[in-house]
Amino acid sequence: MVSDQVYNSFITTPRQLAQALDLSLEPLEAVHAVYPLRISRYYLELIKQHGLPLFRQAVPDLLELSDAIGLDDPLDEENLSPVPNLVHKYPDRALFLVCNECATYCRFCTRKRKVGTKNMVINEATIHAGLEYLARTPTISDVLISGGDPLMLSDQRLDRLLRAIRAIPSIATIRIGTRVPCTLPARITPRLAAILKRYHPLYINTHFNHPTEVTADAARACTLLADAGIPLGCQTVLLRGVNDCPQTLQLLFYRLIRIRVKPYYLFQADLTKGSSHFRTTVNTGLAIMHYLIGNLTGMALPTYALDAPGGGGKIPLTPQYVQSLDKTLDFITCCGSPCSYPNQTHPDSFQSSVGVNEKKNYT
Ligand SMILES: *Cc1c(COP(=O)(O)O)cnc(C)c1O
Ligand code: SF4
Repeated sequence: MVSDQVYNSFITTPRQLAQALDLSLEPLEAVHAVYPLRISRYYLELIKQHGLPLFRQAVPDLLELSDAIGLDDPLDEENLSPVPNLVHKYPDRALFLVCNECATYCRFCTRKRKVGTKNMVINEATIHAGLEYLARTPTISDVLISGGDPLMLSDQRLDRLLRAIRAIPSIATIRIGTRVPCTLPARITPRLAAILKRYHPLYINTHFNHPTEVTADAARACTLLADAGIPLGCQTVLLRGVNDCPQTLQLLFYRLIRIRVKPYYLFQADLTKGSSHFRTTVNTGLAIMHYLIGNLTGMALPTYALDAPGGGGKIPLTPQYVQSLDKTLDFITCCGSPCSYPNQTHPDSFQSSVGVNEKKNYT
Protein backbone atom coordinates (compact mmCIF):
# COMPACT_ATOMS: atom_id res chain seq x y z
CA MET A 1 0.00 0.00 0.00
CA VAL A 2 0.92 3.65 -0.36
CA SER A 3 2.10 5.54 2.72
CA ASP A 4 -0.26 5.84 5.68
CA GLN A 5 -0.52 9.56 5.24
CA VAL A 6 -1.89 9.18 1.71
CA TYR A 7 -3.89 6.05 2.54
CA ASN A 8 -5.66 7.65 5.47
CA SER A 9 -6.90 10.45 3.31
CA PHE A 10 -9.96 8.60 2.03
CA ILE A 11 -13.66 8.58 2.77
CA THR A 12 -14.63 4.90 2.89
CA THR A 13 -17.88 4.68 4.86
CA PRO A 14 -21.41 5.96 4.18
CA ARG A 15 -21.35 7.71 7.55
CA GLN A 16 -18.22 9.72 6.74
CA LEU A 17 -19.64 10.67 3.36
CA ALA A 18 -23.08 11.59 4.68
CA GLN A 19 -21.39 13.86 7.20
CA ALA A 20 -18.96 15.41 4.75
CA LEU A 21 -21.56 16.32 2.12
CA ASP A 22 -24.64 16.59 4.35
CA LEU A 23 -26.47 13.67 2.71
CA SER A 24 -28.94 11.19 4.14
CA LEU A 25 -27.29 8.03 5.29
CA GLU A 26 -29.77 5.32 4.24
CA PRO A 27 -29.40 5.50 0.43
CA LEU A 28 -25.62 5.55 0.77
CA GLU A 29 -25.77 2.50 3.00
CA ALA A 30 -28.08 0.65 0.62
CA VAL A 31 -25.72 1.15 -2.32
CA HIS A 32 -22.64 0.49 -0.22
CA ALA A 33 -24.07 -2.91 0.70
CA VAL A 34 -23.65 -3.87 -2.99
CA TYR A 35 -20.83 -1.71 -4.36
CA PRO A 36 -17.69 -0.31 -2.76
CA LEU A 37 -17.23 3.31 -1.76
CA ARG A 38 -14.06 5.33 -1.64
CA ILE A 39 -13.46 9.02 -2.28
CA SER A 40 -10.11 10.69 -1.70
CA ARG A 41 -10.21 13.78 0.51
CA TYR A 42 -8.71 15.61 -2.42
CA TYR A 43 -11.55 14.65 -4.78
CA LEU A 44 -14.10 15.36 -2.03
CA GLU A 45 -12.87 18.96 -1.94
CA LEU A 46 -13.28 19.19 -5.71
CA ILE A 47 -16.84 17.87 -5.38
CA LYS A 48 -17.58 20.58 -2.81
CA GLN A 49 -16.21 23.25 -5.13
CA HIS A 50 -17.65 22.11 -8.44
CA GLY A 51 -20.81 20.18 -7.62
CA LEU A 52 -22.83 17.79 -9.71
CA PRO A 53 -20.49 16.70 -12.54
CA LEU A 54 -17.99 15.42 -9.98
CA PHE A 55 -20.54 14.45 -7.33
CA ARG A 56 -22.25 12.07 -9.77
CA GLN A 57 -18.99 10.35 -10.67
CA ALA A 58 -18.11 9.40 -7.11
CA VAL A 59 -21.14 9.50 -4.77
CA PRO A 60 -23.26 6.30 -4.60
CA ASP A 61 -26.73 6.69 -6.10
CA LEU A 62 -29.81 4.49 -5.63
CA LEU A 63 -30.08 4.30 -9.43
CA GLU A 64 -27.16 1.85 -9.29
CA LEU A 65 -29.48 -0.67 -7.67
CA SER A 66 -32.36 -0.41 -10.15
CA ASP A 67 -30.51 -1.21 -13.36
CA ALA A 68 -32.36 -3.93 -15.27
CA ILE A 69 -30.38 -3.56 -18.51
CA GLY A 70 -26.75 -3.71 -17.51
CA LEU A 71 -24.45 -6.73 -17.62
CA ASP A 72 -22.00 -7.89 -14.96
CA ASP A 73 -19.14 -8.40 -17.40
CA PRO A 74 -20.09 -6.34 -20.48
CA LEU A 75 -16.79 -6.98 -22.32
CA ASP A 76 -16.71 -10.71 -21.55
CA GLU A 77 -13.34 -10.21 -19.88
CA GLU A 78 -13.57 -13.28 -17.66
CA ASN A 79 -13.93 -15.58 -20.69
CA LEU A 80 -11.04 -13.85 -22.45
CA SER A 81 -8.66 -14.40 -19.53
CA PRO A 82 -6.24 -17.29 -20.09
CA VAL A 83 -5.09 -16.77 -16.51
CA PRO A 84 -6.98 -14.78 -13.86
CA ASN A 85 -6.64 -10.99 -14.19
CA LEU A 86 -5.04 -11.05 -17.63
CA VAL A 87 -7.29 -10.30 -20.60
CA HIS A 88 -5.90 -11.35 -23.96
CA LYS A 89 -8.23 -10.11 -26.69
CA TYR A 90 -5.96 -8.77 -29.43
CA PRO A 91 -2.94 -10.71 -30.78
CA ASP A 92 -0.34 -8.05 -29.96
CA ARG A 93 -1.46 -6.68 -26.61
CA ALA A 94 -2.76 -7.79 -23.24
CA LEU A 95 -4.50 -6.16 -20.33
CA PHE A 96 -2.90 -7.12 -17.01
CA LEU A 97 -4.87 -6.31 -13.84
CA VAL A 98 -2.40 -5.84 -11.02
CA CYS A 99 -4.29 -4.00 -8.26
CA ASN A 100 -7.89 -4.16 -7.10
CA GLU A 101 -8.04 -0.73 -5.49
CA CYS A 102 -8.52 2.82 -6.73
CA ALA A 103 -8.08 6.20 -5.08
CA THR A 104 -11.74 6.96 -5.75
CA TYR A 105 -14.26 4.42 -7.00
CA CYS A 106 -16.09 5.65 -10.07
CA ARG A 107 -19.77 4.81 -9.97
CA PHE A 108 -19.67 4.00 -13.72
CA CYS A 109 -16.66 1.67 -13.62
CA THR A 110 -16.71 -1.06 -16.27
CA ARG A 111 -15.24 -3.51 -13.73
CA LYS A 112 -17.75 -2.54 -11.08
CA ARG A 113 -18.43 -6.25 -10.63
CA LYS A 114 -15.07 -6.70 -8.96
CA VAL A 115 -12.91 -3.59 -8.49
CA GLY A 116 -12.62 -2.80 -4.79
CA THR A 117 -14.41 -6.00 -3.76
CA LYS A 118 -13.41 -9.45 -2.63
CA ASN A 119 -14.39 -10.73 -6.10
CA MET A 120 -11.09 -9.40 -7.39
CA VAL A 121 -8.27 -11.48 -5.99
CA ILE A 122 -4.81 -10.23 -6.84
CA ASN A 123 -1.81 -11.66 -5.07
CA GLU A 124 1.73 -12.84 -5.70
CA ALA A 125 0.39 -16.00 -7.36
CA THR A 126 -1.88 -14.23 -9.88
CA ILE A 127 0.85 -11.71 -10.72
CA HIS A 128 3.28 -14.55 -11.23
CA ALA A 129 0.80 -16.42 -13.47
CA GLY A 130 0.28 -13.25 -15.54
CA LEU A 131 4.01 -12.74 -15.98
CA GLU A 132 4.44 -16.35 -17.02
CA TYR A 133 1.69 -16.02 -19.60
CA LEU A 134 3.31 -12.88 -21.05
CA ALA A 135 6.66 -14.64 -21.19
CA ARG A 136 5.30 -17.68 -23.02
CA THR A 137 3.17 -15.62 -25.47
CA PRO A 138 5.70 -13.68 -27.54
CA THR A 139 3.07 -12.27 -29.94
CA ILE A 140 2.24 -9.86 -27.11
CA SER A 141 4.47 -6.80 -27.48
CA ASP A 142 2.35 -4.26 -25.60
CA VAL A 143 1.17 -4.79 -22.04
CA LEU A 144 -1.42 -2.57 -20.39
CA ILE A 145 -1.17 -2.55 -16.65
CA SER A 146 -4.48 -1.70 -15.10
CA GLY A 147 -6.83 -2.75 -12.32
CA GLY A 148 -8.15 -1.09 -10.27
CA ASP A 149 -5.35 1.43 -10.31
CA PRO A 150 -1.74 0.23 -10.55
CA LEU A 151 -0.46 3.45 -8.97
CA MET A 152 -2.19 2.41 -5.74
CA LEU A 153 0.61 -0.16 -5.37
CA SER A 154 3.56 0.91 -3.26
CA ASP A 155 6.62 2.25 -5.06
CA GLN A 156 8.44 -0.92 -4.16
CA ARG A 157 5.84 -3.32 -5.52
CA LEU A 158 5.40 -1.30 -8.67
CA ASP A 159 9.16 -1.24 -9.21
CA ARG A 160 9.35 -5.00 -8.79
CA LEU A 161 6.45 -5.59 -11.18
CA LEU A 162 7.86 -3.30 -13.87
CA ARG A 163 11.26 -4.90 -13.57
CA ALA A 164 9.72 -8.35 -14.07
CA ILE A 165 7.78 -7.18 -17.15
CA ARG A 166 10.88 -5.52 -18.61
CA ALA A 167 12.77 -8.78 -18.22
CA ILE A 168 10.47 -10.32 -20.87
CA PRO A 169 12.23 -9.65 -24.19
CA SER A 170 9.06 -9.80 -26.33
CA ILE A 171 7.43 -6.92 -24.44
CA ALA A 172 8.25 -3.68 -26.24
CA THR A 173 5.92 -1.13 -24.68
CA ILE A 174 4.42 -0.89 -21.23
CA ARG A 175 1.28 1.15 -20.66
CA ILE A 176 -0.15 2.09 -17.28
CA GLY A 177 -3.82 2.99 -16.96
CA THR A 178 -4.36 5.19 -13.91
CA ARG A 179 -6.83 7.72 -12.59
CA VAL A 180 -4.49 8.81 -9.81
CA PRO A 181 -3.34 12.06 -11.52
CA CYS A 182 -7.03 13.08 -11.41
CA THR A 183 -8.21 11.67 -8.08
CA LEU A 184 -5.05 11.56 -5.93
CA PRO A 185 -2.35 13.70 -7.57
CA ALA A 186 -0.26 13.73 -4.36
CA ARG A 187 0.57 10.08 -5.11
CA ILE A 188 2.67 11.26 -8.07
CA THR A 189 5.98 12.03 -6.39
CA PRO A 190 9.47 12.71 -7.80
CA ARG A 191 10.43 9.32 -6.41
CA LEU A 192 7.65 7.54 -8.30
CA ALA A 193 8.53 9.40 -11.51
CA ALA A 194 12.16 8.34 -11.08
CA ILE A 195 11.11 4.69 -10.76
CA LEU A 196 8.82 4.77 -13.80
CA LYS A 197 11.53 6.43 -15.86
CA ARG A 198 13.68 3.31 -15.65
CA TYR A 199 11.25 1.24 -17.69
CA HIS A 200 10.93 3.16 -20.94
CA PRO A 201 9.28 2.99 -23.41
CA LEU A 202 6.54 3.43 -20.82
CA TYR A 203 3.29 5.25 -21.53
CA ILE A 204 0.58 6.40 -19.15
CA ASN A 205 -3.07 6.76 -20.03
CA THR A 206 -4.86 8.68 -17.37
CA HIS A 207 -8.56 9.41 -16.98
CA PHE A 208 -10.12 12.86 -16.63
CA ASN A 209 -13.80 13.43 -17.41
CA HIS A 210 -14.50 17.06 -16.61
CA PRO A 211 -12.61 20.35 -17.06
CA THR A 212 -12.84 21.16 -13.33
CA GLU A 213 -10.75 18.04 -12.62
CA VAL A 214 -7.78 19.67 -14.34
CA THR A 215 -6.44 21.49 -11.28
CA ALA A 216 -3.06 22.94 -10.35
CA ASP A 217 -2.35 19.71 -8.41
CA ALA A 218 -3.22 17.57 -11.44
CA ALA A 219 -0.97 19.80 -13.57
CA ARG A 220 1.91 19.31 -11.13
CA ALA A 221 1.42 15.53 -11.18
CA CYS A 222 1.30 15.37 -14.97
CA THR A 223 4.34 17.64 -15.30
CA LEU A 224 6.36 15.29 -13.07
CA LEU A 225 5.41 12.36 -15.28
CA ALA A 226 5.90 14.20 -18.57
CA ASP A 227 9.29 15.49 -17.40
CA ALA A 228 10.24 11.86 -16.76
CA GLY A 229 9.75 11.35 -20.49
CA ILE A 230 6.44 9.52 -20.16
CA PRO A 231 3.97 10.26 -22.97
CA LEU A 232 0.59 10.94 -21.37
CA GLY A 233 -2.78 10.09 -22.87
CA CYS A 234 -6.31 10.36 -21.53
CA GLN A 235 -9.21 7.91 -21.70
CA THR A 236 -12.34 9.93 -21.04
CA VAL A 237 -15.74 8.29 -20.62
CA LEU A 238 -18.76 10.01 -22.13
CA LEU A 239 -21.16 10.33 -19.19
CA ARG A 240 -24.71 11.60 -19.12
CA GLY A 241 -25.15 14.50 -16.72
CA VAL A 242 -21.37 14.82 -16.34
CA ASN A 243 -19.76 15.74 -19.64
CA ASP A 244 -22.30 15.04 -22.43
CA CYS A 245 -21.95 18.53 -23.85
CA PRO A 246 -19.70 19.65 -26.73
CA GLN A 247 -18.39 22.77 -24.99
CA THR A 248 -17.63 20.91 -21.76
CA LEU A 249 -15.54 18.31 -23.57
CA GLN A 250 -13.89 20.97 -25.73
CA LEU A 251 -12.76 22.79 -22.58
CA LEU A 252 -11.60 19.52 -20.97
CA PHE A 253 -9.51 18.58 -24.01
CA TYR A 254 -7.97 22.08 -24.26
CA ARG A 255 -7.03 21.93 -20.59
CA LEU A 256 -5.54 18.47 -21.01
CA ILE A 257 -3.18 19.42 -23.81
CA ARG A 258 -2.05 22.42 -21.75
CA ILE A 259 -0.85 19.99 -19.08
CA ARG A 260 0.77 17.79 -21.77
CA VAL A 261 -1.89 15.07 -21.75
CA LYS A 262 -3.05 13.99 -25.21
CA PRO A 263 -6.72 12.94 -25.38
CA TYR A 264 -6.62 9.34 -26.66
CA TYR A 265 -10.09 7.82 -26.41
CA LEU A 266 -13.54 9.18 -25.66
CA PHE A 267 -15.42 6.04 -24.69
CA GLN A 268 -19.05 5.34 -25.27
CA ALA A 269 -20.16 4.02 -21.86
CA ASP A 270 -20.15 0.23 -21.57
CA LEU A 271 -23.31 -1.74 -20.75
CA THR A 272 -22.18 -2.21 -17.17
CA LYS A 273 -24.76 -3.25 -14.59
CA GLY A 274 -25.29 -0.47 -12.07
CA SER A 275 -24.20 2.28 -14.44
CA SER A 276 -26.97 2.52 -17.03
CA HIS A 277 -28.11 5.92 -15.75
CA PHE A 278 -24.79 7.33 -17.02
CA ARG A 279 -25.22 6.15 -20.59
CA THR A 280 -25.90 8.53 -23.47
CA THR A 281 -27.05 7.36 -26.88
CA VAL A 282 -24.44 6.92 -29.59
CA ASN A 283 -26.20 9.76 -31.46
CA THR A 284 -25.20 12.15 -28.67
CA GLY A 285 -21.58 11.02 -28.92
CA LEU A 286 -21.52 11.40 -32.70
CA ALA A 287 -23.06 14.88 -32.52
CA ILE A 288 -20.41 15.90 -29.98
CA MET A 289 -17.64 14.50 -32.21
CA HIS A 290 -19.07 16.36 -35.19
CA TYR A 291 -18.80 19.61 -33.26
CA LEU A 292 -15.30 18.81 -31.95
CA ILE A 293 -13.87 17.80 -35.33
CA GLY A 294 -14.73 21.24 -36.70
CA ASN A 295 -13.87 23.28 -33.61
CA LEU A 296 -11.02 21.66 -31.67
CA THR A 297 -7.36 21.43 -32.61
CA GLY A 298 -6.54 17.97 -33.90
CA MET A 299 -3.87 17.79 -31.17
CA ALA A 300 -6.65 17.61 -28.59
CA LEU A 301 -9.10 15.40 -30.47
CA PRO A 302 -9.61 11.85 -29.12
CA THR A 303 -11.06 8.91 -31.03
CA TYR A 304 -14.63 8.23 -30.01
CA ALA A 305 -14.70 4.48 -29.40
CA LEU A 306 -17.10 1.75 -28.42
CA ASP A 307 -15.92 -1.43 -26.77
CA ALA A 308 -18.00 -4.18 -28.37
CA PRO A 309 -20.28 -6.08 -25.97
CA GLY A 310 -19.17 -9.69 -25.71
CA GLY A 311 -15.47 -8.96 -26.09
CA GLY A 312 -15.23 -8.02 -29.78
CA GLY A 313 -12.82 -5.18 -29.05
CA LYS A 314 -12.92 -1.45 -29.65
CA ILE A 315 -14.25 0.17 -32.79
CA PRO A 316 -13.93 3.85 -33.71
CA LEU A 317 -17.16 5.78 -34.18
CA THR A 318 -16.89 8.69 -36.57
CA PRO A 319 -19.58 11.04 -37.83
CA GLN A 320 -20.70 10.18 -41.35
CA TYR A 321 -18.74 12.36 -43.80
CA VAL A 322 -18.56 9.86 -46.67
CA GLN A 323 -21.62 9.94 -48.95
CA SER A 324 -20.43 7.49 -51.59
CA LEU A 325 -17.19 5.84 -52.70
CA ASP A 326 -16.65 4.64 -56.26
CA LYS A 327 -14.77 6.45 -59.07
CA THR A 328 -15.00 9.49 -56.87
CA LEU A 329 -15.28 9.91 -53.13
CA ASP A 330 -18.23 12.13 -52.42
CA PHE A 331 -18.31 13.59 -48.96
CA ILE A 332 -19.53 16.42 -46.79
CA THR A 333 -16.88 18.74 -45.29
CA CYS A 334 -16.99 19.46 -41.57
CA CYS A 335 -18.73 22.78 -42.37
CA GLY A 336 -21.44 20.83 -44.19
CA SER A 337 -20.65 21.57 -47.85
CA PRO A 338 -20.49 18.79 -50.45
CA CYS A 339 -17.09 17.94 -51.97
CA SER A 340 -15.55 15.25 -54.26
CA TYR A 341 -12.16 13.64 -54.62
CA PRO A 342 -11.17 11.56 -57.69
CA ASN A 343 -10.57 8.01 -56.47
CA GLN A 344 -8.14 6.72 -59.13
CA THR A 345 -4.43 6.08 -59.46
CA HIS A 346 -2.31 7.56 -62.24
CA PRO A 347 -1.93 5.07 -65.15
CA ASP A 348 1.91 5.23 -64.90
CA SER A 349 2.24 5.14 -61.13
CA PHE A 350 4.66 3.02 -59.07
CA GLN A 351 3.97 -0.56 -58.19
CA SER A 352 2.35 -0.89 -54.86
CA SER A 353 5.16 -1.18 -52.30
CA VAL A 354 3.74 -4.10 -50.39
CA GLY A 355 6.26 -6.68 -51.65
CA VAL A 356 9.72 -7.38 -50.28
CA ASN A 357 11.43 -7.17 -53.73
CA GLU A 358 10.70 -3.50 -53.99
CA LYS A 359 12.66 -2.86 -50.80
CA LYS A 360 15.58 -4.87 -52.20
CA ASN A 361 15.69 -2.77 -55.36
CA TYR A 362 15.74 0.37 -53.30
CA THR A 363 18.71 -0.59 -51.13
C1 LIG B 1 -8.70 -1.53 -24.58
C2 LIG B 1 -7.99 -2.78 -24.53
C3 LIG B 1 -6.71 -2.91 -25.08
C4 LIG B 1 -5.99 -1.76 -25.71
O1 LIG B 1 -6.61 -1.26 -26.84
P1 LIG B 1 -5.93 -0.07 -27.63
O2 LIG B 1 -6.93 0.23 -28.70
O3 LIG B 1 -4.62 -0.58 -28.15
O4 LIG B 1 -5.71 1.06 -26.69
C5 LIG B 1 -6.09 -4.13 -25.00
N1 LIG B 1 -6.69 -5.19 -24.44
C6 LIG B 1 -7.92 -5.11 -23.92
C7 LIG B 1 -8.53 -6.32 -23.33
C8 LIG B 1 -8.61 -3.91 -23.93
O5 LIG B 1 -9.83 -3.82 -23.38
S1 SF4 C 1 -10.37 4.53 -11.62
FE1 SF4 C 1 -10.82 3.13 -13.34
S2 SF4 C 1 -10.78 1.08 -12.44
FE2 SF4 C 1 -10.94 2.54 -10.74
S3 SF4 C 1 -13.14 2.73 -10.34
FE3 SF4 C 1 -12.58 4.38 -11.77
S4 SF4 C 1 -13.00 3.50 -13.81
FE4 SF4 C 1 -12.90 1.77 -12.36
